Amino acid sequence: MIKVEHLTKYYGDFLAVDDLSFEIDEGHVYGFLGPNGAGKSTTMNIMIGCLSATSGRVSIGGFDIFEDPDNAKRLIGYLPEQPPLYMNETPVEYLRFVGEAKGLHGEELNSQIEGVIRQVRIEEVKGRRISALSKGYRQRVGIAQALLGSPKVIILDEPTVGLDPLQIIEIRDLIRQLGRDHTVILSSHILSEVQAICEKILIIAHGRLVAFDEPDQLERSLLGTSEISFTTDAPPERVRSILSGVPHVFDVKVSQPEKGLVHARMQTNAKDIYDTSREVFFAFAKRDIALLELNLKKASLEDIFIELTEGSASTVQTEATVPAAESEANEQ
Ligand code: ADP
Ligand code: MG
Repeated sequence: MIKVEHLTKYYGDFLAVDDLSFEIDEGHVYGFLGPNGAGKSTTMNIMIGCLSATSGRVSIGGFDIFEDPDNAKRLIGYLPEQPPLYMNETPVEYLRFVGEAKGLHGEELNSQIEGVIRQVRIEEVKGRRISALSKGYRQRVGIAQALLGSPKVIILDEPTVGLDPLQIIEIRDLIRQLGRDHTVILSSHILSEVQAICEKILIIAHGRLVAFDEPDQLERSLLGTSEISFTTDAPPERVRSILSGVPHVFDVKVSQPEKGLVHARMQTNAKDIYDTSREVFFAFAKRDIALLELNLKKASLEDIFIELTEGSASTVQTEATVPAAESEANEQ
């Protein structure tokens, strides 16, 4: 449905989008996930034909966005990060204006306006001024205008920013429903949001595509390292030497937090962390050494996100209770 090839965008000499390539199939909800400044809005603006690219190609339904913009744009509905709503108008007036700009008129325009109003459930406020509507309703009006003209693809730039928790839940539900009849692409800097709504996630950092997969698969395949740590009372050299014979264990760190106790921490890239923890356990048990404490830490999607977007971690919002850096520090 959408093909992006080697897309690159410079603002002056600042590289905002760096050789981005991906394909989007019809009928799914896709998430562009990345910290602020990653290049999500820039990419979306190029995809919808509102911004030129420095190089690269974008085609929508087979139409090149630069060479055949009219045909390509007809297939896309767009909700910008800051939708240009006219505050003094009512949703109906505003939707009429947008619909006409999209080339709709007469009965077709009227029925489409009614249709999208029903779809985003703003019937009860359709005659009020937009200035009097809550942010959640305004966002629905913004989504309604994107739906006018029955585009196959709906692109939503940070659709839940600035909404309260209840409004966020409602907008997420609405987006899921849109995903039944449309290809939906939304951007977000919130991992849990993309995880909750999207079937496929594109992680973008510093203008580059760093991952593209289903949420489960991302968690499983990408960066499948997990951490094993234990405490024992064998000498540090002995611990090191035993661990060097355990498969799939690397990056071993051995410390002696207090006299007589040794703490070991290691990474494993085994598919199943329990296979490795079993190996570790028996390697010591058969030498009559007790593991006094054994801990496993599996990599979460959150860890992966932070790792992949490293360098911009301060602007990454993961809705974590404890920032990764802090929990790391607490352990030492
Ligand atoms: P995101 O939507 O992921 O937060 P943007 O696409 O808005 O990221 O921005 C990517 C980078 O490009 C940022 O560093 C931003 O400051 C920069 N940028 C965006 N728009 C412009 C512009 N018009 N001129 C110069 N730099 C820009
Ligand atoms: Mg943005």
